[in-house]
Amino acid sequence: MKYQAVIGLEVHVQLLTNTKIFCGCSTKFGATPNSQTCPVCLGMPGALPVLNKKVVEYAIRAGLATNCGIAPKSVFARKNYFYPDLPKGYQISQYELPICLSGHLDIEVDGDVKRIGITRIHMEEDAGKLVHADVPGAGDASCVDLNRACTPLLEIVSEPDIRSADEAVAYLKKLHQIVVYLGICDGNMEEGSFRCDANVSVMPVGSDTFGTRTETKNVNSFRFVKQAIEYEIERQIDLIEEGGKVIQETRLFDPNTGVTRSMRGKEEAHDYRYFPDPDLVPLVISNDWVEDVRLSLPELPEAKFRRYQDELGLTAYDAEVLTADRLLARYFESCVALAPQQVKTVANWVMGEVARKLNDEGKGIADCPVTPQLLNALLKLMEAGTISGKIAKTVFDEMWSTGKEPAAIVEEKGLVQVSDTGEIERIIDEVMAANQGQVNEFRSGKEKVFGFFVGQVMRASKGKANPALVNEILLKKLRG
Ligand code: ADP
Ligand code: MG
Ligand code: ZN
Repeated sequence: MKYQAVIGLEVHVQLLTNTKIFCGCSTKFGATPNSQTCPVCLGMPGALPVLNKKVVEYAIRAGLATNCGIAPKSVFARKNYFYPDLPKGYQISQYELPICLSGHLDIEVDGDVKRIGITRIHMEEDAGKLVHADVPGAGDASCVDLNRACTPLLEIVSEPDIRSADEAVAYLKKLHQIVVYLGICDGNMEEGSFRCDANVSVMPVGSDTFGTRTETKNVNSFRFVKQAIEYEIERQIDLIEEGGKVIQETRLFDPNTGVTRSMRGKEEAHDYRYFPDPDLVPLVISNDWVEDVRLSLPELPEAKFRRYQDELGLTAYDAEVLTADRLLARYFESCVALAPQQVKTVANWVMGEVARKLNDEGKGIADCPVTPQLLNALLKLMEAGTISGKIAKTVFDEMWSTGKEPAAIVEEKGLVQVSDTGEIERIIDEVMAANQGQVNEFRSGKEKVFGFFVGQVMRASKGKANPALVNEILLKKLRG
């Protein structure tokens, strides 16, 4: 029997607000444990939550960017469960009336565009963190750090529209790119700012009844998501083939072994005893506010991708590479603004030398030492014929390590391109005299040796000879 996988993803997005969702404590990562806490996020009796307006604005942004409707009225609910990292004994979330409903994202896999439905987006608070450590004086202990308690999250729930691990990754990458572009999430998956629960089931091909799903929790890299889903599909198929049954449960993915294992039986919604939080009034959002947020949205990756092709004349490939990262796109656009006539050259340099250096040094574009102004100055020197493209790469490397102006580097190192025909002729004559054998070969029809001469002449000029002139004069002289 052949099987079809069915996948739905729940993504947790940690929001980039300065303060927590229901109190004024800082959300900064990495502080001393429990230093960013107050009676509200410590769950003290009688402390009352106050909703952070920025969180609502960010949720609206996410909803609009994923084609959701924004609910004029939504409600916070208590999700009750006990865990040591949850001091109140409940998590404030949204349940029956979430802030965003019925959106979608279009993904592309193997050239086919596919629409993935988004069921809902809701706001909620994160829990604290348990640290299992060897504590001086206490020995092996479990400690609780509540700095993360009450940190704002969005949970973005997809429809079970995804049919393979590759589609799941494409959907996640797209969503990740959008929340980073929106400036509502730092996108740092290692620190858990963007993590996903993968719901997976299988059914016989052609069936229209979904199988029983398992939910694999908190997978925090694209690669792990792919591995976890593929593993889970295989596991479920094997299980069914052996006459077993998939049980609805929560599983954990172990990145070291690539295997998922059972964590606990899946709780049902009614286990949580959801009810509207009496401490928070229903959230009413005016249409004006939604429209203000809509107007303030930045250009999103899809629109940028299209504009780079339609207005800037770039290929789909170039447009994709340059829009993949919001900051890279911003850098590229700053360069283009300085040299609007040279879009293609700028694109080649940003995707070539700049990307190569960043990659070599494991840096992001935010740490690029060559500013758009410096890169532009370099391109101007090339355009004016002061330096060749080859020398420009040398100058670029020097700019990278020293931050100096390219003109100063060219001057200092004597890198000005030789465009003096007399000088170039002299070098060519020398090279030809020293390689008479190859000259004869060329003249007897083996024109392939031309490249050899170009190389020799460039080397003799230390890369400074104007390549166009070298080609022209060399050809003339070789033909005799
Ligand atoms: P819960 O929090 O109980 O897991 P949610 O409604 O928040 O429930 O999320 C359920 C997720 O599971 C959704 O992403 C949905 O698309 C997905 N899903 C539902 N049924 C199936 C199924 N049979 N196979 C795979 N995914 C499913
Ligand atoms: Mg779930
Ligand atoms: Zn607090």
